[in-house]
Amino acid sequence: MKTETHSRKYEHENVRDFEVFRKRLLAELKNFQDRVARARQELPIDSDPDDEAGIASRSADREVTMGNLERDLQAIVEIERALHRLDAGQYATCVVCQSRISDARLKAIPWTRTCIQCAGRGNQFAGSPLQLNANLAHS
Ligand SMILES: [Zn+2]
Repeated sequence: MKTETHSRKYEHENVRDFEVFRKRLLAELKNFQDRVARARQELPIDSDPDDEAGIASRSADREVTMGNLERDLQAIVEIERALHRLDAGQYATCVVCQSRISDARLKAIPWTRTCIQCAGRGNQFAGSPLQLNANLAHS
């Protein structure tokens, strides 16, 4: 008698395995932290505030770097929150309407807090506002 063993690794089940997302979040977190560390080294943080010509000539570059830095810092905050939600068993649950966030959306934005419908309503960053370092937010 011939036995056929289908290697079915995954049954379709209701329990969702978020380990793949956790790994991705940790990888992304490290990625963003590295970028922030590099950006901070490039920023002329200790420039003399009285030297207006110097500030002006640097401001274009600085603005680009600052913009990237702010986005990266925001992403780090989001990723850390997502990891906390994972630990708390609240991952993949929309913070606005409490509905389930689809895998497709999580794959696109693993740290998202809202389902696609709520994001579409402009609630992408719903929840408490992000706090950026004041020194970084204003030059
Ligand atoms: Zn929602």
